[in-house]
Amino acid sequence: MDTIGHWIGGRLQPGSSGRSGPVYNPATGRQVAEVSLASEAEVDDAVKGAASAAVHWADSTLSERSSRMFKLRDLIDQHREDLARCVTAQHGKVVSDALGEVARGLECVEFACGAPDLLKGSYSPQVSGGVDVRTVLEPLGVVAGITPFNFPVMVPLWMLANAVACGNAFVLKPSERDPSPALMLGEMVRDAGFPDGVVTVVQGDAVAVNALLSHPDVDAVSFVGSTPVARHVYETGTRNGKRVQALGGAKNHMVVLPDADIDGAADAAISAAYGSAGERCMAISVVVAVGAVADKLVEAIAARIPKVKVGPGDDPDSMMGPLITRQHRDRVRSYVEGAPGEGAKVVVDGTEVVDAEGFFLGCSLIDGVAPGMKVYDDEIFGPVLSVVRVNTFAEAVEMVNANVYGNGVAVFTRDGGAAREFERRIKVGMVGINVPIPVPVASHSFGGWKASLFGDSPIYGHEGVRFYTRQKVVTSRWPSPASSAIDLGFPASG
Ligand code: NAD
Repeated sequence: MDTIGHWIGGRLQPGSSGRSGPVYNPATGRQVAEVSLASEAEVDDAVKGAASAAVHWADSTLSERSSRMFKLRDLIDQHREDLARCVTAQHGKVVSDALGEVARGLECVEFACGAPDLLKGSYSPQVSGGVDVRTVLEPLGVVAGITPFNFPVMVPLWMLANAVACGNAFVLKPSERDPSPALMLGEMVRDAGFPDGVVTVVQGDAVAVNALLSHPDVDAVSFVGSTPVARHVYETGTRNGKRVQALGGAKNHMVVLPDADIDGAADAAISAAYGSAGERCMAISVVVAVGAVADKLVEAIAARIPKVKVGPGDDPDSMMGPLITRQHRDRVRSYVEGAPGEGAKVVVDGTEVVDAEGFFLGCSLIDGVAPGMKVYDDEIFGPVLSVVRVNTFAEAVEMVNANVYGNGVAVFTRDGGAAREFERRIKVGMVGINVPIPVPVASHSFGGWKASLFGDSPIYGHEGVRFYTRQKVVTSRWPSPASSAIDLGFPASG
């Protein structure tokens, strides 16, 4: 069986810790590889290599960074299909969905191609007599990225592109569940001409993460994953003096107002709840039906569920692939099985289409859900959509705002005034108005509120540039030439 290793010093390196973990093809349920799990000593070596690369890379010219980033952009573009198939083989999502993830990651690389503009800083001439002030943006040094299983290309690129464009060396610790796409990115970074050590991939689990969090040469940490681990990463990293942004889990609501287009809202709910088998941090997991809309909306969603074809991600007819592991599939199923005992009603039971081999689950729809039920309170991260019925707009807003998470939210309505009021009142970081998955484009930044983001800094876009640089403000005074006899200047009066 193949063992997946690290990308260190610009080449593949086998692990030496003696520890490894299984990698599955979720569509067959079979193990396809082992992944090396780095020891503390291996992380130390990798970070030291990155630290020495960072010294030289910090001195690279902006045009050098930009032209290499353009090459990386072209390589990712040429290998979209290969990357997507690699994602499907280990994550399970359908190829069309994986291609979408590659496209969204590519956007971040395109944004970072503008390094010369992004790193311009600012300048104020003559703040006082003969005194000028400029703010310059300098790299931090070594920055680490720790990423989740659900977007093995896009989330690493959220970090890598800006980190490297800003002049840092980047050490990626991808998810141990789907570790291979990160190595493909490592090869493309080399082929784009970035010096060895500017991008490193260390495979591993909590041991590697904790080694990065305590390593003295790691200056900053970007984390994306579940809320308990995000909290741990934020607390440990900041305690060790690092700059940390830690994006956590979610429970995203879609509020459907009585005037909404029912068919449009039902289509959106299906796409946003069951796309990628619900394993998206921006997936809709709760529909909040306001007033009389509920019966018709539940009926419209239920009627569409049989059209969602569940199957292997590499089958072009499949619309939804398997879940990531057998344990996760069983955990998700337990929420559907437990819902009637909590007083909710299972309208569509997706657990009936469980495939014994792969980690498949069908789409489930649960009505009559309320805060306080496990199916509402927990992040399920699977193809389970709950419906909560409320009477008023105010009740809907209050419920969303009381939720511990605040990643994404959507409102469906034809009433511009109601949408505007919703936007103003809602305590969530990313808001969609008739848009079910409002993931910002690369020129804006991504980040939730409350337990969905620890630290002050959202990820990618201009906030990403800010996170991966530290500012230096230079105040200078140059006296005017004491005297001058010759003046070829344009004649001026007075
Ligand atoms: P996870 O928290 O289990 O793992 C994320 C990373 O942390 C992995 O690299 C993993 O190896 C590491 N890790 C796991 N347990 C650890 C521990 N005890 N100590 C130190 N490191 C540890 O998350 P996951 O299951 O891979 O991904 C799904 C989660 O990620 C969901 O909660 C989802 O909402 C969240 N997510 C959030 C965003 C966002 O932008 N907010 C985006 C994608 C995914």
